[in-house]
Amino acid sequence: MIPERDFKLSRKRKSRRELHISPAQALKMFTACDLFKILLAVKTFALDLFFPISCAGCGHAKTHCCKNCLDKIPILEIQKCHSCCAASQNGTFCGEKCRRNFSFDGIISSAAFKENSVLAKLIHRFKYDFAQEICGDLVKILLRSGCLKKLEGYGKNACIVPVPLHKKRLNFRGFNQSEVLAEEIFKNTGIKIENLLTRIKNTEPQAQLKKIKRLTNVKNAFEIKPSAKINPEKIYLLLDDVCTTGSTINECAKILKKYGAKTVIGLTVAKAV
Ligand SMILES: [Zn+2]
Ligand SMILES: [Zn+2]
Repeated sequence: MIPERDFKLSRKRKSRRELHISPAQALKMFTACDLFKILLAVKTFALDLFFPISCAGCGHAKTHCCKNCLDKIPILEIQKCHSCCAASQNGTFCGEKCRRNFSFDGIISSAAFKENSVLAKLIHRFKYDFAQEICGDLVKILLRSGCLKKLEGYGKNACIVPVPLHKKRLNFRGFNQSEVLAEEIFKNTGIKIENLLTRIKNTEPQAQLKKIKRLTNVKNAFEIKPSAKINPEKIYLLLDDVCTTGSTINECAKILKKYGAKTVIGLTVAKAV
């Protein structure tokens, strides 16, 4: 019998007949990796067949967003104070009066969130159609907007804290969109990720609620992880896909500050304006 390693090296160019092995021997050499690759190919084929994807902007086939439509998504040229909407560098509050009802120190976003826009459709597919690959497009928008460049000003002191999902929703979706985004941002900027928070309340998705309900929905929904270590010198960048009322970012910031954080900035791909 041919050793498995030699078989693997030679099978690129030799068939089973050329190797003089029986079908039974060939079957034994069939590894779990081979099976996984075949299942993956079948899954891709079936998804393409039954759920064909098309550009959220122009309908072009086989892509969630073509380069042309991605480049056309308008970015936010200036960041604003979350309270009074006055122009503000890095989205920080313009004064104590604006800051007093919030636990975070500012929110920085790359684009405006408008219902039925290409960006809104992409974010919807990313979260609710389980299209994890859209993450790359969203980070391209963050990079084009200059948001991540602005964060470089915080230097090595900054770290990304993804907004956590409740265990039940994580099991259902299979991934946390904020964590996936954080990993892609880390690859592009080197800003480290610290998973410091846990979601203790399985809240309703904020997108389905009216403004007033959003505030109460996430109230006390988060807690610090027992393993978390907060460094007051650090700048904590709370990462989420969308910011509407800012209540999710605020609840997370409240916990980080309770445990010693001094500066907490929200970072989102899109922001309702
Ligand atoms: Zn397109
Ligand atoms: Zn203000």
